Amino acid sequence: MAINLSNSNIATRENRIGSITGYVGTLKDLATQSSCGTLKGCSRCFSQSSTCLSSCGLSQLAAIRDVAVIHHGPAGCSVTGASAYYMSKVMAKKRGVTSDTVYIGTDMNENDTIFGSTETLRKVILEVNKRYSPKAIFVSSSCATGIIGEDIDSIVEDVKEEVSVPIVAVHCEGFKSRIWATGFDIADHAVMQEIVQPPREGVVSNKINFKNFFESARPEIIEIFKNFDLEPVFLYCNSTVEELSHISESLATTCICGTLGNYLGNALEEKYGVPYIRSINQCGIKGFETWLREIGKVTGRSEKVEAYIASEREKYLPQIEEVKKELKGLTAVLGMGPGYTFEVSRVLDELGIKVVWALAWHYDKKYENGDVPPSMKYLLDNDINFETSVSDQQNYEVMNILNKYKPDMYLSRHPGSTVWAIKNGTPAIYVADEYMIFGYKHTLEFAKSILDAVKNRSFEENLARRSKLPYTDWWYKQNVDTFFEEAK
Ligand code: SF4
Repeated sequence: MAINLSNSNIATRENRIGSITGYVGTLKDLATQSSCGTLKGCSRCFSQSSTCLSSCGLSQLAAIRDVAVIHHGPAGCSVTGASAYYMSKVMAKKRGVTSDTVYIGTDMNENDTIFGSTETLRKVILEVNKRYSPKAIFVSSSCATGIIGEDIDSIVEDVKEEVSVPIVAVHCEGFKSRIWATGFDIADHAVMQEIVQPPREGVVSNKINFKNFFESARPEIIEIFKNFDLEPVFLYCNSTVEELSHISESLATTCICGTLGNYLGNALEEKYGVPYIRSINQCGIKGFETWLREIGKVTGRSEKVEAYIASEREKYLPQIEEVKKELKGLTAVLGMGPGYTFEVSRVLDELGIKVVWALAWHYDKKYENGDVPPSMKYLLDNDINFETSVSDQQNYEVMNILNKYKPDMYLSRHPGSTVWAIKNGTPAIYVADEYMIFGYKHTLEFAKSILDAVKNRSFEENLARRSKLPYTDWWYKQNVDTFFEEAK
């Protein structure tokens, strides 16, 4: 799909790449329907939870050092400030750098939502620029400004000369998509529009753009990439505006999760010819090796990559094989974003664990380039099938499935979900860190963590005995799609 950087507004994932939030069936059926174009998805007449996409979008932007994020909306929308604070201040401290990024809500009142408040917004932008001297300014809309048609684009255009740093309108109306990951695309679009510059002439780079969430494995990845004479540039956590302005010069773009990095990778490729590494991700042995080989191929470093793989295999494979003996035959249910659900399913299969049900918080039928997501393609090509559903973190559906299947473990990347599984008596593994299954070393650690979780069940058993769950027997006897409605 062509990426249009001349318009600050981008279409939602639902409209751009046919993403859905409701489905129950099998992995094979889901993939077959998406590849032949018949997949419609369902909505729910009862929904337990959801998240605003501005939380994803604006916290990504707030992760960039020394910028200002101005959220034009009522005070309630500034709940996003909590994740923005975490991404800017906590992450900077962890890395040992400083970030003077600020997040400002414009606190629209009732009057503003009727008559508009573009004049106030203009004053806020100028004051923020004067008071904080940010290196870039992101001006975001909200549901309220979207509904009344507040023209933030014109205000941004008007003040451009006065602020003299990159400034861009970010269309983050929470109501426009049920898929919070649309916020990632919105952030990427803003960065591509105003921050990224065309490559400088004569610059020869050995850099690889690496889109990730929290850069927790930064030192380790820098060391790995030294083996191939490559230098990773981690995005956007702790990035500087200067760094971002040159990512069009990199040798390639890769990401830890296709849901997070797909839009930026495709946009850089389409606009500046920076190749986007399209492979399964780095989780598990198969994923890590496939990813490294693709990097080797794209950057002309295959020999160095093969030498590294051979030496690491020798070190880790025998140990992984040893742990696998104890994992064989265990069963699992997963609940994660689609980027990870189908990648982690592959790793569990590698470890000999049977996935009985996988929930993806949404599902992208296709990625920006029109392909089925690589993690999904891998499972199909290898004839791996299991029951699957698409559920935007509806925990009541998770509980229904756990109760019916009684798996040996539940894995989720969202803590709210694992807590409920534990109260149900199911050992839960919180795959919080994006690098928890990265490469050989962490695959081994992950396998050992699973073993710990399934062997030491007393915590779950005790908690389950003492917890009264809000779900009735009636609900446990229902099909998980009881509240589904056909998509119109
Ligand atoms: S933008 Fe909309 S959905 Fe998001 S916090 Fe504000 S009102 Fe809620």
